[in-house]
Amino acid sequence: SQVTTDMASLTREVERFAEYNKLEIETLKVREAYRKEFMGNVSHELKTPLFTVQGYILTLLDGAIKDKAVRKKYLQRANKGVERLIYIVKDLDMITKLEAGELHLDLEDFNIVELIQNSFDLLEMKAAKKNITLVFDMPYDRPVMVRADRDRIQQVVSNLIVNSIKYGKKGGTTEVSIENLIKNKVIVRITDNGEGIEKENIPRLFERFYRVDKSGSRKEGGSGLGLSIVKHIIEAHNEKIYVESVFGVGSEFSFTLEKSKKTPEVGNKSKVSK
Ligand code: ADP
Repeated sequence: SQVTTDMASLTREVERFAEYNKLEIETLKVREAYRKEFMGNVSHELKTPLFTVQGYILTLLDGAIKDKAVRKKYLQRANKGVERLIYIVKDLDMITKLEAGELHLDLEDFNIVELIQNSFDLLEMKAAKKNITLVFDMPYDRPVMVRADRDRIQQVVSNLIVNSIKYGKKGGTTEVSIENLIKNKVIVRITDNGEGIEKENIPRLFERFYRVDKSGSRKEGGSGLGLSIVKHIIEAHNEKIYVESVFGVGSEFSFTLEKSKKTPEVGNKSKVSK
């Protein structure tokens, strides 16, 4: 009977091993499919600007180079295309690091009001081109201290404001607000009265390369990676990001941040009203 027991346990061992191998193979298959899809998306994203740049170079070589004014115009356009390529490659680099969990956060205490003001200064021109007004619903001189990676949060805020301009209506408004949440959190909201997002598209917004309107968004010049980078950065901070949108009315993106312990109640709105 000793032999049969050993045989039975051996069979169990073999079965367990086979089961483990099957799981391992499934994981590898999923990873491989994911890698293929990623590479497919990358080459697709790079193709358009590459062909654009090539188009201008070929036209120049074809004789346009002799005309001084045309030469300058085409070189400027080719350069725009190269700028776009650099921008896409930078975003790709970022998303690869984020997905591999290789982003190192540099936590510090800073004033989020000042950061929002910086973003407004940087994006004012862009907004003005579409006659969009940037509104901050708090006094600039009342600091709100948070603890986070300042550069990464700057990237998040800029990205969300840029989107609100890109998908905003001409003559519209982008409003940014900060509110105290329960305990040690604040929530930053970026609200626009732009084109809005249809309900069925909302769950997919944060996927990389996902765009609601493929042609329209590409004309706007994004990489389709912005929101997935934003989400990764917020989640790396162990914080949350939310989106609410009504098609044809507008969208609101919001995210939470941890308040700084150093100056817990500075600039606290609810403190003022208490
Ligand atoms: P993109 O480079 O295309 O802007 P993002 O990842 O930043 O990529 O955004 C993904 C898609 O989400 C956009 O293509 C657009 O369709 C939609 N979207 C993002 N922000 C807004 C917004 N404020 N209003 C309406 N649609 C938006």
